[in-house]
Amino acid sequence: MDFKSLIRDVPDFPKKGILFKDITPLLKNPQAFQKVIHQMAERYKNRNLNGIVAMESRGFILGGALAAQLGVAFIPVRKPGKLPWKTYQETYDLEYGKDTLEIHQDSVAPGDKILVLDDVLATGGTAAATIRLVEKAGGQVVEACFLIHLTFLNGHEKLKSTPLYSILQF
Ligand code: AMP
Repeated sequence: MDFKSLIRDVPDFPKKGILFKDITPLLKNPQAFQKVIHQMAERYKNRNLNGIVAMESRGFILGGALAAQLGVAFIPVRKPGKLPWKTYQETYDLEYGKDTLEIHQDSVAPGDKILVLDDVLATGGTAAATIRLVEKAGGQVVEACFLIHLTFLNGHEKLKSTPLYSILQF
């Protein structure tokens, strides 16, 4: 199936100069959505994962579906002030300024094998901060998985030794 034809390019969103990869046409296609989750599930079903850590908000769509399919925990990473319990925080650099992500302190147990999952790997700041959050909680990140890898932005360099997998590359 040609997943790429179901990714819509939206120029200058959310701001000028960004070519936004809109995954909603793929999500709207039930066969395509199922096939994406199936492809990820096939890759991770025998990896003895304890949980999937996904980033707000489009990571939740893929992460929730994959966690249910694999029968492992779903663990959200969110923007500051959204998670109600005790959190760990990690701050990372944006093009202009900084951003922070949070995870519940009790969401990952020491030694847990974790898959980090998001829709798009762009500059890698979000994924790198999420990996640090999992490690802060004592978890071990087995791999970072993305539906889309924007290779020209070199986000993989920020992931350092964490193995990287993506279904689509642009
Ligand atoms: P980054 O930290 O630069 O790797 O950005 C990753 C986060 O921003 C992901 O959660 C993506 O959903 C979102 N993102 C960044 N760039 C794009 C893009 N060109 N199209 C769609 N989403 C993007």
